Amino acid sequence: MAGIVVRDGNVGRVALTNTGRASVSYEPSIKELKAIAKGVEVLAKMWFALGARRVVSSHRAMAIVDNEEDVPKLIRKIIQDPKNLLLGSAHPQSGNRIGKSPADSVLDSNCRVYGFQNLFVCDASVFPSSVGVNPQISVMTVASIIASRIIRDWDNIYAELPLSKNLGNTCAVVQPMYCSNNNLSKFFVSVKSEFDTDSLVNSSKNQIDDSNWRLDPESLMIYNNLQWKGIYSRDSNIQNTLLLYFGGFWKRFNKNEKDEVVGITHPYEVPVFAKNKATQKEIEGFGKVILLEYLDFPFNQFYDVLKIVDEYTMLGKAFMGTPGREILTFSMSRKYPFEFMTEEDHEYLYSKSKRPSLEYMVGIWSGRLVSDSGWSDNVFRFKYYFDTDDKGRNCLKNDYVFGNILAGAAQVTDLEDHVEMQDATGGLFHDEIRRVNDNILIGKYYSRKSFILDWLPQGLSFLHADSARDSVYLPYILRKVGYESAFRNQLG
Ligand SMILES: Cc1cc2nc3c(=O)[nH]c(=O)nc-3n(C[C@H](O)[C@H](O)[C@H](O)COP(=O)(O)OP(=O)(O)OC[C@H]3O[C@@H](n4cnc5c(N)ncnc54)[C@H](O)[C@@H]3O)c2cc1C
Repeated sequence: MAGIVVRDGNVGRVALTNTGRASVSYEPSIKELKAIAKGVEVLAKMWFALGARRVVSSHRAMAIVDNEEDVPKLIRKIIQDPKNLLLGSAHPQSGNRIGKSPADSVLDSNCRVYGFQNLFVCDASVFPSSVGVNPQISVMTVASIIASRIIRDWDNIYAELPLSKNLGNTCAVVQPMYCSNNNLSKFFVSVKSEFDTDSLVNSSKNQIDDSNWRLDPESLMIYNNLQWKGIYSRDSNIQNTLLLYFGGFWKRFNKNEKDEVVGITHPYEVPVFAKNKATQKEIEGFGKVILLEYLDFPFNQFYDVLKIVDEYTMLGKAFMGTPGREILTFSMSRKYPFEFMTEEDHEYLYSKSKRPSLEYMVGIWSGRLVSDSGWSDNVFRFKYYFDTDDKGRNCLKNDYVFGNILAGAAQVTDLEDHVEMQDATGGLFHDEIRRVNDNILIGKYYSRKSFILDWLPQGLSFLHADSARDSVYLPYILRKVGYESAFRNQLG
């Protein structure tokens, strides 16, 4: 076995999608293809000269070369049909290259990220271009130089810099949905809450509408004041992880006629609506807190202790019995990142979204199912591309892969307010899709109610009953991951 290593130009692209994920695409130019073809030619001829009867290539359309006369055919295929050429690299470089200007580079010559005062990168990604030889010594050299410069300038420049306000996906008291149990507990003790029980009260409406729901198109934060979304810590051991993911619940509060703050706690996926009452208390060890007592049996053996962090965020601990035995620590938010969207958020966002143009849909999209308690991983992929139909007309086509197992092609129809897809299930299921922004589509995988309930395991938490029709659907979000990334099980 032998391989060819080519020094390439800057032909790859690494970008961030709107949901903050990496999107990587790589398309070799003719320069790289010619160099690869030349290397393949030399290697193939070498093997035949050494007595090989057949040569195996990494071009999928001509994986076997039977004799030396066929080598030029393989070379033509590499140059004319690069999409079928399998490439790999153990030396990726230049993803965050150093340069003079942020217009075409990520870092300045101190490896500091443009636009940041104290964010540095020192690894193979900083090289302005491919070094063309094994990179490890250069990586270590860059890291040593940059580390010594940071140490040199620490006291004068970096030590006093304030931390960024935009925290990304990190655990912090104002975004506790990213925290482990240990961190939540530490925050719970340290927070000094100045908010009273009135601050718990949610929207007076029973339905989601523009007065209690909005999505910030820039930050993709969802504000939903119909209730507080309760989220367990990221490392909590909730049973049934497969279906419920992080688990979760909501609490909704209102004022009764006696001016008391009362509420309901509802764990997602379970038909429990436990009534409770909130009062202010001073508890030793916790300071000023809100005590939430459950009113009816069997829930009245439990109580929660809440601390409000800000207008949108609170932390809580659940206890059982008297004296209370601590069961768990949780957080609650009425403003949360897109990826914590509930089925209700999904339904409302879909109703407010518009049809995408077919041109916009071209590319590879990765899909996650949405449930109240958490999203699934990326469990399916769609590829949209223009092609001709059997009558020779230009049309948008779709290939899909579910769980890297179930692959097929769906028919795409452009309708007045959404794009529809019929897959190989012969009309039993269909997709309805709208656009959220440049990188995100929102969709529903519809079925007749009776059929899907017979077919799916009971209690599947991703299934959502349509409030307007006699149907159920799987709510999902599609994120654009590139144009020609590796699309497994591609048909045809
Ligand atoms: C099989 C193989 C053989 C090689 N042989 C050679 C050789 O002989 N000579 C040579 O010079 N080079 C060789 N290389 C290349 C060399 O190893 C790499 O170029 C080099 O290690 C890259 O260094 P890096 O610091 O950029 O990245 P890495 O060494 O890949 O370091 C990245 C680090 O980030 C961590 N990380 C990733 N995501 C996160 C996250 N979200 N949070 C926290 N941490 C994270 C990873 O765990 C990893 O430790 C080889 C590579 C391979 C794969």
